[in-house]
Amino acid sequence: MLYFAYCRIMLTTNFHPTGRHFLQIPGPSPVPERVLRAMSLPTIDHRGPEFGALGLKVLADVQKIFQTRHPVMIYPASGTGAWEAALSNTLSPGDHVLMYETGHFAFLWHRLATRLGLMAEVLAMPGVEDGVPTSWRRGVQAELIEQRLKADTGHAIKAVCVVHNETSTGATSNIAAVRKAIDAARHPALLLVDTISGLAGADYRHDDWGVDVSISGSQKGLMLPPGMSFNALSPKAIEASKSAKLPRSFWAWDEIIEMNKTGYWPYTPNTNLMYGLSEAADMILGQGLDAVLARHQRWAAGVRAAVNAWGLPIQCADAGVYSPILTGVMTPVGVDADAVRKIIYERFDCSLGTGLGKIKGRMFRIGHLGDSNDLTLIGTVAACEMGLKLAGVKLAGSGVQAIMDYYAGHPAALALRKAA
Ligand SMILES: *Cc1c(COP(=O)(O)O)cnc(C)c1O
Repeated sequence: MLYFAYCRIMLTTNFHPTGRHFLQIPGPSPVPERVLRAMSLPTIDHRGPEFGALGLKVLADVQKIFQTRHPVMIYPASGTGAWEAALSNTLSPGDHVLMYETGHFAFLWHRLATRLGLMAEVLAMPGVEDGVPTSWRRGVQAELIEQRLKADTGHAIKAVCVVHNETSTGATSNIAAVRKAIDAARHPALLLVDTISGLAGADYRHDDWGVDVSISGSQKGLMLPPGMSFNALSPKAIEASKSAKLPRSFWAWDEIIEMNKTGYWPYTPNTNLMYGLSEAADMILGQGLDAVLARHQRWAAGVRAAVNAWGLPIQCADAGVYSPILTGVMTPVGVDADAVRKIIYERFDCSLGTGLGKIKGRMFRIGHLGDSNDLTLIGTVAACEMGLKLAGVKLAGSGVQAIMDYYAGHPAALALRKAA
């Protein structure tokens, strides 16, 4: 209700809060000015000569970001579309797929697979911890996948689907270990990985890790607005697409691969998002992927120091797989996390991620990705600390002090500025 009232005030009196809105949800992430400016250039003919050059450039850029030598599809669609593309290009009606439930996004992908007519089996760790499914507090347990595949002696399972960075919980998964598990079981299943929120924030290597289809989106680590998504392919996935029988037309890889050779698409691509992609890739690759990943790790460690100082549990219960992209903060039993978020939004103009699905009301998510810096994250933690106190949560100590101490004590590897 309040939200709609707020929109009406904005529309009728042109009310606009001063300063920057803190968009600290784990996607869409803040879009750098430089990218917004690049996107404001005039739209060009998508069959003209300049477009072919742009197309070839962005296709080469995204290959570097996925760390692959093989084709990458770029779709004018949100990440969900690229999920559907990955399944519909490689599988046939009724095919058995194994999906690991790390959280809400894994659950949604499973629902999509079922709707497409696949026989989707869910694998998860049993149990509940602090009212949250155990499986929603950890990454993929590769040994469970290995056991399940070893039992599938008839090779009925055609694909294993896992989420690399589970945006609903703040846990990453060890994709190289999943590849090893599939190989150890000597199983021919394809490996499909959702790295929609992982790419360009957490370490990701499509070729080295033997992934068959990697799925990603524009609005998270790539620092673009929503509306563009990706499939990175392996030769085995391309081979599987030749006999896969699920219906597909818009998503079909073969026509796109053919036209991409000269930098074009079979339909009208989202030209202005391509300008943005070109600019964002220049920023990411110009700084170097290693530096981008180190920046995210450092930010995440500072935010976790704050949550620890508050004495609140971090949702990810395995320190080995903490997400560099977001941190899930669990509120004490009896405190509605969405009520805390509402105070922080209304009083301090800061958006945080809500608890999704099975953990609604139990936690909120702090995004620390993309176009952030130390001070925006300290400001975000300050907004959280004020909101938690206003909601009546007893905090053990100051998270603001802890994050300041962390960043001051751990200088970034690259100096941000050099004084004259
Ligand atoms: C954001 C996200 C999605 C959904 O992508 P849309 O662009 O909203 O369709 C799927 N999986 C993960 C892990 C995500 O973070």
